[in-house]
Amino acid sequence: MAAPVTTETNISENLSTLSATIEAAVAGASRPSDSVSLVAISKSHPAAAAREALDAGHRIFGENRVQEAIDKWPALKTDYTEVELHLVGSLQRNKVNNAVGLFDVIHTIDRPKLARAVAVEMDKSGHRPQCFIQVNTGEEPQKSGVLPTGADAFIGQCRGELNLPVQGLMCIPPQDEEPSLHFALLREIAMRNGLKSLSMGMSGDFETAIRFGATHVRVGTAIFGPRPPIKAS
Ligand SMILES: *Cc1c(COP(=O)(O)O)cnc(C)c1O
Repeated sequence: MAAPVTTETNISENLSTLSATIEAAVAGASRPSDSVSLVAISKSHPAAAAREALDAGHRIFGENRVQEAIDKWPALKTDYTEVELHLVGSLQRNKVNNAVGLFDVIHTIDRPKLARAVAVEMDKSGHRPQCFIQVNTGEEPQKSGVLPTGADAFIGQCRGELNLPVQGLMCIPPQDEEPSLHFALLREIAMRNGLKSLSMGMSGDFETAIRFGATHVRVGTAIFGPRPPIKAS
């Protein structure tokens, strides 16, 4: 048996606490109880941490790097059935074939060249992960995502010309701003485009996100504890 991942993080307990908090937030927003999926973000934590969550019955996970997911998930997918794996980090075009093969959902379709490459790979492989389009709601230069003003056209291109299975929109609000404004903007863009899913809300703001209609909250730290320092890659 591997040693426990950390001495202080009880992943199973964190998951139950979190589920209860999410349930309360969903009820508080008068939304149906099954309307929010918890995507457990296991990035930079070892496979053993993901295993603890799997053993606790959780099945929906997210990673932000394709290579890390390739190293970690094929074995876990073999050992546990019905795992649903989400890519929540930015996708480089040279990783598109790996990503389309491994992930069930891609949250970060953020530019036409990438969208086109994903569409080509889907046609080639026959594997069609659900897609979210990332919107840079804070218009931050360092952040990925289509700008709000360009969102309608890009969504139209992805669904029309490229025939991508677009499920919804995703955003990461700026660190130092009130997230609700960004959640409201994302919801507005989704509604006017007839998109039903909203990937928004992290450990610090998922309850707010649920009030604003999040269907997928992406939570890492509140489940797995603080992340080890990022290794150079
Ligand atoms: C790391 C990450 C998360 C999880 O963040 P926490 O604050 O640890 O919950 C969510 N979404 C994305 C895109 C991330 O990269």
